[in-house]
Amino acid sequence: MDRPLPTLGNPQNTIAVLQKYGFNFQKKFGQNFLIDTHVLDKIIAAANIGPDDFVVEIGPGIGTMTQYLAYAAREVCAVEIDHNLIPILEDTLSGYDNVTVLNKDILKVDLNALAQEKNGGRPIKVVANLPYYITTPIVMGLFENHVPLESVTVMVQKEVAERMQVGPGTKDYGALSLAVQYYAEPYIVANVPPNCFMPRPKVGSAVIRLTLHTDTPIQVKDEKLMFRLIRASFNQRRKTLVNGITNSAELQYTKEEVAQAIEKCGFPPAVRGETLELKQFAMLSDALQE
Ligand code: SAM
Repeated sequence: MDRPLPTLGNPQNTIAVLQKYGFNFQKKFGQNFLIDTHVLDKIIAAANIGPDDFVVEIGPGIGTMTQYLAYAAREVCAVEIDHNLIPILEDTLSGYDNVTVLNKDILKVDLNALAQEKNGGRPIKVVANLPYYITTPIVMGLFENHVPLESVTVMVQKEVAERMQVGPGTKDYGALSLAVQYYAEPYIVANVPPNCFMPRPKVGSAVIRLTLHTDTPIQVKDEKLMFRLIRASFNQRRKTLVNGITNSAELQYTKEEVAQAIEKCGFPPAVRGETLELKQFAMLSDALQE
């Protein structure tokens, strides 16, 4: 079957669909639909979608980006929590025979099983204009559950994209930067202003592509311990690393043990976590584990 060209992605057609179904936006689901074809083209190009790809889309809304994905990919699975959007998606995606819509909460979908079923366990591409209220749990969930991923190309709040991309020495550097960079190479593709969405969000947005590392950039003996240390040091940003770690409810080290490990790594005694790179957190984690 020849796939139709996407028709949504401009304000007129979006309004027509919304009116046809009397759809009311639900704030609690972070619904801001894309109405700019240039932005949509940019996302598809950045995600490098081609005819061999199986793509998971998180939160298809009325199916705007889904049409673009379905046009370019082999197969698309779109996961939408709002049941009011399901009849609309059946309509807007009726021309595409390569799309499945799941009416589910993405945080409860077994994406490992889906990748196995639809892509023979090979790495999949995830593309989304994310609901901003759960950006971090969604992105970290993909990584921590070890979903086989090739790339994650997502629209997020501009500040969040910046946090994902920065290194030590900036105020945006934090646990999210380190976690994302442990798993992937981040690249901000475009900044997107509020007028590209309906309704307009109160914040600026950015498209970021996270390309999964084929080999993790650092070796660490206990990944979970390293991330506990990272969280502890950024939860109490203004404290020294020794105090941050000893105050953490997630960790049971004495001041002496932490100070000794810090010395062993060759860091200054009053070092703060925000100055350390990923590989230095890995060193500290290995030293504490010993
Ligand atoms: N992709 C559409 C677009 O770009 O026009 C809509 C994007 S809108 C920012 C986010 C979408 O995610 C909404 O359709 C919302 O209902 C859906 N959503 C919110 N929370 C979700 C969840 N936990 N699981 C799946 N979808 C969710």
